[in-house]
Amino acid sequence: MSEIKANDPMLRSWVHVPEGSDFPIQNLPFGIFRTESQFPHVCCAIGEQLIDLKALHVMGYLENLPFTLEDMVSPTLNRCMRHGKQAMRDLRNRVSKLLRSDQPDLRDKEHHVRQVLFRQDEVQMLLPIAIGDYTDFYSSEDHARNVGTMFRDPAKALLPNWKHLPVGYHGRSSSIVISGTPVHRPMGQMNASDETMPTFGPTKQLDFELEMAFITFDGKPLGQRISTAEADDYIFGMLLFNDWSARDIQRWEYVPLGPFLAKNFASTVSPWLVTLDALEPFRVPGPTQEPEVLPYLKYQGMKNFDIHLQVAIQPEHAVETVVSNSNYRHMYWNMTQQLAHHTVNGCNIRCGDMMASGTISGPHEGSFGSMLEIAWKGTKPVIMNDGSQRTFIQDGDTVSIRGYAEMNGIRIGFGECSGRVLPALP
Ligand code: CA
Repeated sequence: MSEIKANDPMLRSWVHVPEGSDFPIQNLPFGIFRTESQFPHVCCAIGEQLIDLKALHVMGYLENLPFTLEDMVSPTLNRCMRHGKQAMRDLRNRVSKLLRSDQPDLRDKEHHVRQVLFRQDEVQMLLPIAIGDYTDFYSSEDHARNVGTMFRDPAKALLPNWKHLPVGYHGRSSSIVISGTPVHRPMGQMNASDETMPTFGPTKQLDFELEMAFITFDGKPLGQRISTAEADDYIFGMLLFNDWSARDIQRWEYVPLGPFLAKNFASTVSPWLVTLDALEPFRVPGPTQEPEVLPYLKYQGMKNFDIHLQVAIQPEHAVETVVSNSNYRHMYWNMTQQLAHHTVNGCNIRCGDMMASGTISGPHEGSFGSMLEIAWKGTKPVIMNDGSQRTFIQDGDTVSIRGYAEMNGIRIGFGECSGRVLPALP
């Protein structure tokens, strides 16, 4: 693998980065922004600002890279990503060099600096990827055990296949929205007793699912497999992901085939695509996998990542309450195993596909990744800071997921993945 210069922990930027910022020079995640007067442009976050890559291109700062001006004036990152992993790494290294405190090329050209930097709170961030196919895995053992214990025999909480393959299903990408987009409470069929006639109405059990998702580059031709050893080469980066779920609709509809309308009404993603390159220093060993997995799911090296995750609920006109602190390192199946399994039958992946982790629960109360588990099927209501109680999400609530990896004072953050719940549409 070629050098990832942008990760040097000694680097500092001439752009001010406040203490505790998600976006030091070692991060430089990619996104798409728009101002009132401009078309969408590709950008990278730095501190509380962002740097406009279209403007950098026009000024000649991106010379000798394969990107065209059209790649940078685009409503999504897909055009840039089609140049492949090495090109995106070179682009991030170039932006890093331009922002380094010891590099005068851009720093000392005040008229250029004025044109390339924007405050993040003064622009609109857009969904960064034209998401192709979306797959949702179910790869947290603690989550699978909790749900299995609640709905099945606790002694058989995990189904027999669970430790032999990363269980997943194909979701829907059309309803994936950017952080800040309100979500209407979905309507649907429910049947609490499974015996009487079903009822129809707004879900009474709206839930979040704390997840992360990774975005792929173009894969191999149809029919060919991606091995665990190759998988990292096909992964661009990660986002925070809230897979909104309606539990009462889910319970009635999901047998025998799996999630459908209980999941596809909306999912929310964070605006910044944090590259796998930026996360390199945060690799950690995964859990011991017992029983032994089949050869195509075996892997070498550290494939899990130490990423702190938090979920907060803010009722309307009230302070928020943190309801979960979890970590991506709790995942039983890692991304390389997910990708190897996804393609082992020859299924191809494309640039901009999204693979979500499944709900990320930790081993203890306080680290669960959904209200279903936190309030244990409604039996343990959460007392909120404003004195109200929650078993599921109410109208007016804003659910926010945050995440970051941190080591030696360097914090690689993901920004925020939040959405406010509005009443069901008539
Ligand atoms: Ca999910």
